[in-house]
Amino acid sequence: MEACVPEPGWVTWSPSVTLVPTHACFNACSYCSFRRPLQQADALSDQAALERLQARPAAAEVLLLSGEVAPDSAQRPAWFARLRALSALALAQGRLPHTNAGPLSRREMAALARLNPSMGLMLEGLGPAYDGLHRHAPSKRLDVRLEQLQQAGRLGIPFTTGLLLGVGESQADRERALRWLAELQQRFGHLQEVILQPWRPDAEQARPLSAAEQADLLHTIAMARRILPPEVHLQMPPNLWPLEALPAALAAGINDLGGIDTSDVINPAYPQPAVERLGRLLSETGWRLIPRTCVHRGWWAWLPAALRRRVEAWDLLLASGSAQANAPQD
Ligand code: SF4
Repeated sequence: MEACVPEPGWVTWSPSVTLVPTHACFNACSYCSFRRPLQQADALSDQAALERLQARPAAAEVLLLSGEVAPDSAQRPAWFARLRALSALALAQGRLPHTNAGPLSRREMAALARLNPSMGLMLEGLGPAYDGLHRHAPSKRLDVRLEQLQQAGRLGIPFTTGLLLGVGESQADRERALRWLAELQQRFGHLQEVILQPWRPDAEQARPLSAAEQADLLHTIAMARRILPPEVHLQMPPNLWPLEALPAALAAGINDLGGIDTSDVINPAYPQPAVERLGRLLSETGWRLIPRTCVHRGWWAWLPAALRRRVEAWDLLLASGSAQANAPQD
């Protein structure tokens, strides 16, 4: 790929709105509080999706985050049709869908890539700690995840992955996962960002990272920056990291804060910081907070022409600060 290394001193974020097609999931990851059992399936209507989008007119990115249906289930075609329909709805509203809905067949992934400028799937990690968390989650088998990340590379999809950190894994497990991602990137070049996501316990109230946890994660951020190729953005969700310690995370190698909506549907007890406050804090410490679309600039050439035009139009709007007024239309 044509490498496009992030500008030093810049920290990017994506104005985003999250749609949840369904919380129902056939997996049962032991840490998950998002999931509902299949018998209690919910479904997001078009009307509810439109209302969410209208409430966030400046959100270029529409993150489609869904519970999963088993690949061989009779419900799979309807579930997948809904992902497509909601992607098309987001596009019709001038937005940029980014789907993260678990492992997809090659045909499913290729079909969604025609509607989604970028997509994602967390690797989460390698090693026995993850095997334990995923004992009742067939789609989180390691071989399935590794193959998915390779399939996205073969299909040439700008892709987001990441590690879930602090679940009992060792530093050696983290290093092994980062080295595997670095090799994947050298082979396919499609990894536009790697999220380093601290695991946080579910609670009524947020439990901030302790000083020891922060020090441990800073070490891993620096290791990720050394191991991953320089064009791969390193992302930290800003609601899961103490705001006053954000400059230390940036100094260690973080250069992206990901999609920011008004709340985090996976970690609802951890409120998103106001973007204005983030911008002030960063500029006081020598960083510049820059809005971006769901596709980093280095991957625009990978997009089908219509999606690329839409991404470029949004980029201009975000840079001019006038995204609130007009979502671009074709
Ligand atoms: S696959 Fe996702 S939604 Fe399903 S149980 Fe695991 S974390 Fe929860």
